[in-house]
This record gives sequence, structure tokens and C-alpha cells, in this order.
Amino acid sequence: MKMNAQIKAELISIGAIDIDPSILGRLTIPTAGPGAGGKAFFFKSGGHRVRLVVDEGSPLRAVKDNDNGEIVIIKGGKEFVRGTIEEELIHCPEQAYITMSERCIYDCKFCPVPKLNGKVKSSEELLALVEEAFKLGRMKGISLTSGVEVSPEKEVERAAELVKKLKKYNVPIGVSVYPTKASSRILKEAGASEVKYNVETMDRELYEKYCKKPPLDFTLECLKDAVKIFGKNNVFTNFIAGLGETDETIEENYEILAKMGVIPIIRAVGVHPLRFGELEAERPTAERLLKLAKMSRRILDKYGLDASKAKTMCLPCTGCDLNPHVDL
Ligand code: SF4
Repeated sequence: MKMNAQIKAELISIGAIDIDPSILGRLTIPTAGPGAGGKAFFFKSGGHRVRLVVDEGSPLRAVKDNDNGEIVIIKGGKEFVRGTIEEELIHCPEQAYITMSERCIYDCKFCPVPKLNGKVKSSEELLALVEEAFKLGRMKGISLTSGVEVSPEKEVERAAELVKKLKKYNVPIGVSVYPTKASSRILKEAGASEVKYNVETMDRELYEKYCKKPPLDFTLECLKDAVKIFGKNNVFTNFIAGLGETDETIEENYEILAKMGVIPIIRAVGVHPLRFGELEAERPTAERLLKLAKMSRRILDKYGLDASKAKTMCLPCTGCDLNPHVDL
């Protein structure tokens, strides 16, 4: 059986798999965002891709079919889906997706980065990483992300300097950082083609409870500004599902964002072990993920947005989410 939207939704909903690490190819451990610190790989089948975290306790198990080298995913003792493992460049298969600062002054409860207190890579290190990915071939885009080491302004400045140096690769460059009043203008002038500023949740109560960073309205203002500067289909935002919000809240706010020209990415919540006990979260079921993806498709179509046009970051990767125009 090849992967389809239903199977992908089930795989995302479970999110993890038991697999012998010796089967896996080249791996990078994500250093930013909710998946930071975990070992994961990309599974491809039927034109779909999914990223699964390696976890011995998962109800899913993957084995190799020695006859043809395919990876077979087993669920409840039966074959569920088969496909291949896709190697990463940096963090995802066709992009160099790099993290500048692996630490953060904010303390959003769903994110392990502030707890990991990781490295702040120098420009030389970051440039060397991209060069390494470029040499592997297949680099269709470059994406930059970062926690906030000192201030959002400083991260934007660092990202802009880096974008200027990365233009020589002639591939689209996307930047996902905490926004500032001037970030879209600065990043556009530097040569970035797409930006992602995350709202995380638009349920105001949940935002107050879990997002320990500047107010949501500020991010919304910055997103509006970003659409003016980068144009439709080039501005994205992550929207977490599973923090306790209703589907109605998601739909209502998804439409507010789409009306602004922003493409929201609905991301199934994951609780990192470093955050156990700090948030009440429930990973969405496959049915909920599919329902939300269909709703997204309908709203994006209504406002003339196309999630398959994105060139950088999560929408073209599709590893963690159902892309409404690629997976449905
Ligand atoms: S969808 Fe985004 S977060 Fe997930 S693997 Fe791809 S680039 Fe990384």
C-alpha cells in the first residue's frame, strides 16, 4: 500500500515510529522549534512525504523488505504502508534549513529551545553548512530560522547579513524569525523571498497561557506588513493544533489570516520531554487533521492562495503537516 492523505494523517497523528537506526541514512537532529533535539527521518511514498520521530515505544514499527529495499511500516501486526527513506540535506530533504541561534530569551511552553540552551553558530559555521549541503546536490532552497539569543532585532540583522551572502547560490531563501517592525523590509532588501512569523495559536486565552513572547497582535501587524512587502503566497505562519482550541477557533482565525494574504500551516502539537508537565496538549487525531486540511484548502482557494507555490521552509517540505494543495 502506498501513502495517501488518510495514511499520512494517521502517521502524523502518531508522529513516531520504532525503527532500527542502522536502516536510516544521513540524519540531522533539529535544533530549533518544537522538534528540537529528537532523532527523526523522512519517509516517502505515493508522492507524499512524512517526517517521523524515532521512538521505541511507538505503536508503529518499520522494517526493511530485503527483496526490494523498501521500508515497510507495520501497524497492529499488519503492513500499513510501504515506501522509501529520503535522505536529508540539512534538516529536510531538498533544503538547507539551518538554525542560527539554538537558544531563546522567551519561554513558550511548547518549545524545548529555551531549555536546551544550545549553540549560537557563527556566520562562518552557517555558511560552511550551506556549502556542504549545496555540494550534495538537490538543494532547491535555503531556509533560516532562529531562537532569540539577545533580541529579535539582532536575529533579523544576522539573518539579513546571511541572506546577502547566500544569494550566490541562486535558490529561494526563506526566513523564519521572531518579527520586528522593520524585519520584512530588511529581509526583503537583503534578498529573502519568503518569510514565516509564527502566531503559534490565535486562541487568545491559550496564547496568554503558553506563548511567553511579545503580544499576538504585534505578530499579526508584522504579518500584514510582510504581505505588503513579499506579496501573496510568500508569507506563512505556524498555527498549532492540539493545545485545547476548538476547530471553530482554528477555522475562524485561519480565515482572518488567509484574508490578510498569509498562508497558515496547521501543525500537530508535540510535547518535548523537556516540557512534560508544562502544557496540556493532545495530538490531533487523523480525522481532525484531515478535516482541518480540507478546511484550509477551501479557505485558501477562496482567497486565491496556493500552498503548493511556496519554495522554502515547511510548505514545500510537507514533512510535518498535510499541505492542503500538495497532499489532498
Ligand atoms: S515540515 Fe518544517 S519543521 Fe517539519 S521537517 Fe519539514 S521543514 Fe522541518
